[in-house]
Formats: sequence, structure tokens, C-alpha cells
Amino acid sequence: MKVIKEISAIQDISDYYRYTGKKTALVPTMGFLHQGHTSLMIRAKDENDIVIVSIFVNPTQFGKNEDFGKYPRDFERDYHICEKAGVDYIFYPEVKEMYGENNLTSVNVSVITDRLEGEIRPGHFTGVATVVIKLLNAVKPHHLYLGQKDAQQNAVIGKMISDLNIDVGLKICETMREANGLAMSSRNTYLTEEQKIKSSVLYFLLEEGKRMILEEKNFNTADIKENIFKLFKQMTPDYELQYYDIADNKLLTPLEDLGSFEGEILISLAAKVGTTRLIDNVIFNSVLLCGFSPFPWLVVGKKKGKTPRVKNSKKKIFKKNFLV
Ligand code: AMP
Repeated sequence: MKVIKEISAIQDISDYYRYTGKKTALVPTMGFLHQGHTSLMIRAKDENDIVIVSIFVNPTQFGKNEDFGKYPRDFERDYHICEKAGVDYIFYPEVKEMYGENNLTSVNVSVITDRLEGEIRPGHFTGVATVVIKLLNAVKPHHLYLGQKDAQQNAVIGKMISDLNIDVGLKICETMREANGLAMSSRNTYLTEEQKIKSSVLYFLLEEGKRMILEEKNFNTADIKENIFKLFKQMTPDYELQYYDIADNKLLTPLEDLGSFEGEILISLAAKVGTTRLIDNVIFNSVLLCGFSPFPWLVVGKKKGKTPRVKNSKKKIFKKNFLV
């Protein structure tokens, strides 16, 4: 495995592999790698000849009061993780190499970026879209591997790829979780042990929202959200649920009545656990909402329009299934 720091060098390497007919993959990361990242690398290696992992903490996607300075970094540790996962190259540029002295160009994807993370973190997705297109132009991969964990980011990058006719195949990989459901994230290192345990409430509430839709047949998203906010407050009164959203997974349009929607449903949330911000989501297809389903074992119960109430027994389900 080689470490490459210059754009021109990684471009030459990529040209060589394209010329010799090899398939190449890019896994972009900000480092401090965990099993979520390695699952992307392993799938990429499985489906391509050459895997390039980029490690770059991109300053332009952090807001002024965000954690750019303290974002965890440990290159030596990352190096060994990549080596073990069968990675061929690490692209590890300095900020100066990526942005030069006088960068005047950025990429802005509109509409999808107006809500959710885009609303709370203004400018964030311009930073993300810009760095991703720069990484794609540097590495020139056939395939780009991203994790479902960052669903809005995936929608933004997917739209950018199609709007700008970028010649790369986008592959979305499932979210890797701790045993208690907490989505793996480099930012989990900010959490105390107690916070890690309690944060399992996030995945529980995503699954709970999905259950209300599929089992209770509650298609009224305002009602579901109200219930979820109540549950969150009961279970973790000291944390803040910034949003709990039910949207179309393509354009992130908010959904009100799920009964008339066809497509992929994205339930996403962001929460503040102490000073740490965590995001997570689940995605499923609206085909599961109707009585007829290609996966009949996933659709249980037939109650229509029933409003679920917040029950204490929910706490028990949560404790039994999600706390370690
Ligand atoms: P990051 O280093 O946080 O910028 O993440 C780099 C890539 O890894 C992004 O495509 C993320 O969506 C993906 N990723 C992060 N956490 C996970 C996870 N728990 N499971 C799967 N993919 C992940």
C-alpha cells in the first residue's frame, strides 16, 4: 500500500490503471477510521481491482463554531486499518494541495441542501460537494463508495453527479452499528461510556417510527413525529432532538401523508448528546406500506389510520433491545 500526497501523482496512477483496463474505486473519508469505513473499503475491494482511500479533513465543510480543530486524527492508526482492509493507495493531501493559494470555485447543489443538515449547518454541503468533485477529479475512479449513514450527503452527491454528468458509479453501503444500535462514527470518540449507551435511543426511535408506519399503518407523519419527540423526552430528557424527519430519499422533500407516496422513505434525525452532534437514519421502500408486499413477513398488522399513543411499555422494549 502506498501513500500519495500530490494530486498530479494520484492522477497519473489512476490513468495507468484505466489504461491497463483495471477498475478503480474511491472511498473518501476524513480519517479516524472505524468499521463503518472498513466495510466500504472491503466492498470496494470486492467489486474493483484497485481501492483508493482518501483521508482529508476538509476545512470548507465545517462551520466557524464546529469541530474542525478538534476533529480526531491519527494517521498511523488509519494506515494500519487501510492496510488490513486490502487498500492499495491512501490519498492523503494537505489542505494547501487541495485548495491551493487562491481557490475561487465552489459547487452548490440547491433545494436538497435547504433542509435538515443544510439548514442547521449553512454552507456545509457546498464544502462537501466541492471537495467531493475535487477528489473525483484527482482520483478519477470508476466507482465511488459512500455510507448510508450520511443520507442527505448521498442525495447531494448523487444529484451533483447526475446534474454535472460526472462519469462515476455511486455505490451506497449500509450503516455499520455498535451492538446497541448506535451508528459508528468518528465523532463517537467524543462520547462518554454512559452517553454511548444512552445514544442507542436514536436508532431505537428510527426503528420505532418505521414500526409505526409499517405495523400500525400510521401514515400521518406529523403524528408520528409528535410521538417520537415525546418518547425522546421521556427516555433521554437531558439530550436534544434537533430534528426527526420523514422525507423522500431522492430530493429530501418532506412527506405528510405516506399513503399517497411511492418511492424510498428516509427517516432521519439529528440529536445533541452533551456537546456532540449525532445523525442517523433508516431508509425503506413505500412498497412495504401496502398490504401486498414482496416481503410479507415485514408487514405486520392491518390497523388503518390508528394513532399510536406513547406507552410506558415502549421504554421496556427499548431497554430490552437497545441498551447493552
Ligand atoms: P467520514 O469519515 O465521517 O466523512 O465518512 C466517510 C464515509 O464513510 C462516508 O461515506 C460515510 O457515510 C461513511 N460512513 C461513516 N460512518 C459509517 C457507518 N457507521 N457505516 C457505514 N458507512 C459509514
